[in-house]
Amino acid sequence: MNCRRARASMEAHLMNDLHPKLAEQLERHLQTCPSCRADYEELQRLVEALRRVFALKRQSA
Ligand SMILES: [Zn+2]
Repeated sequence: MNCRRARASMEAHLMNDLHPKLAEQLERHLQTCPSCRADYEELQRLVEALRRVFALKRQSA
């Protein structure tokens, strides 16, 4: 997997929406590519923050 493919797959992976084979390739790429790993971690933080916001909204509704 190359960087462009990895970056395109990150979002789906964070939503648990990536084909298992692709997820495996992505994980392997992230282990060997510090630049993509940094991007992935940033995206992960963003998704977690969004999930917290939605969870809070559900609680207060
Ligand atoms: Zn990369």
